[in-house]
Amino acid sequence: MRKITADYIYPGNTTPIKGGTITLNEEGEVLNISLKTDADAEYFQGIICPGFVNVHCHTELSYAKNQLPEKSGIDQFIHDLEGLKRRISEEEKADSVISAFKEMQENGIVAVGDIMNTTLSIDAKKSSPIACYNFIEVYGSQAKDTERNWNHALGLAAATEGTKNIVPHAPYSLSRTLFQKIRDYQKPKSTLSIHHMESEGEGEYFLKGTGPLAERFKSWGLEQPPHIPTHKRPLESLGEFFHTAERLLLIHNTFINQADIDFAKKHFQNSFYGLCPNANLYIEGDLPPLNLLKNQDLKICLGTDSLASNHQLSILEEMKILNKNFDVSLEELIRWATYNGACALGMNSKLGSIEKGKSPGILLLQNKSTAKSFDLTNASVQVIEPSV
Ligand SMILES: [Zn+2]
Repeated sequence: MRKITADYIYPGNTTPIKGGTITLNEEGEVLNISLKTDADAEYFQGIICPGFVNVHCHTELSYAKNQLPEKSGIDQFIHDLEGLKRRISEEEKADSVISAFKEMQENGIVAVGDIMNTTLSIDAKKSSPIACYNFIEVYGSQAKDTERNWNHALGLAAATEGTKNIVPHAPYSLSRTLFQKIRDYQKPKSTLSIHHMESEGEGEYFLKGTGPLAERFKSWGLEQPPHIPTHKRPLESLGEFFHTAERLLLIHNTFINQADIDFAKKHFQNSFYGLCPNANLYIEGDLPPLNLLKNQDLKICLGTDSLASNHQLSILEEMKILNKNFDVSLEELIRWATYNGACALGMNSKLGSIEKGKSPGILLLQNKSTAKSFDLTNASVQVIEPSV
């Protein structure tokens, strides 16, 4: 048995406790959390919180760490990434995924929603204690390619162990026949993750069929699908394909607007807003509209995106960016970084909050000992108790 206390305990889903005591068994399961500070508990200077949940990563792109120029825009970014992909050996790529999982573990991440287009991350996942929700991603805007794209996804799903789902890449990158395949594939209690409003052009493409996305597809020699323009916002254009998903995880939302939020609120009771602010800064130099999102009782959660578009895989670093740029409390940030992420991935029966019966992993955040004047600029994270 282990008893720990700190200046503050942030349980993840409830108000912070000044002092307090967490009792854990040898497996790291929470036996009790009390408001009283036991005299015989191990004391840590700083803040204790549950292990972090990273709702969005592409670990298979880890080979691109520090390789791609920043703020080049999404088109140049895709071009540079494709070039790099061809120059790196499969062995180097596989090694980089193993390093990425180690990095996440050291940074206090206990669960990840990982996008897969290949089998590259499968071996690394077998040897990592991090819980994975494997999002097998499909795309293909040309209806004639549906069977080929779908069979590739089915093959990848069959090769992948553990929690998994087949999910769409983004509203603009799939034909309607491919979206139908995904809709029919969804099982109860699954999470459907999709990149959403990562660029301003996504809205224009659906509303008018013009703009940078239309130009990009034209330059690739792709025909504009017959349903474009829909004269509706992207999410509304696709609403019919999402109704069977238990949880809808919208990733990025850099250019989300009130109409999108209203549509999601009305049609999906269980929608989550995954923010990856460092990646948004890296690629486009923008940040999601947190002031719009944060006062509407929305379930916000955090992701790192990949090492192609981020200098590290650290949820604390994502919190720092939001802390620096917006008026947001530490309690909210920790809830987004832990409990909301665990709920988004359907892992909240075990992870995401310091509660009796859960094994969330216990982290210590330092350089911060009061809840009032909080500044995360130089904060560090340390794993006090692993999640497994
Ligand atoms: Zn992504």
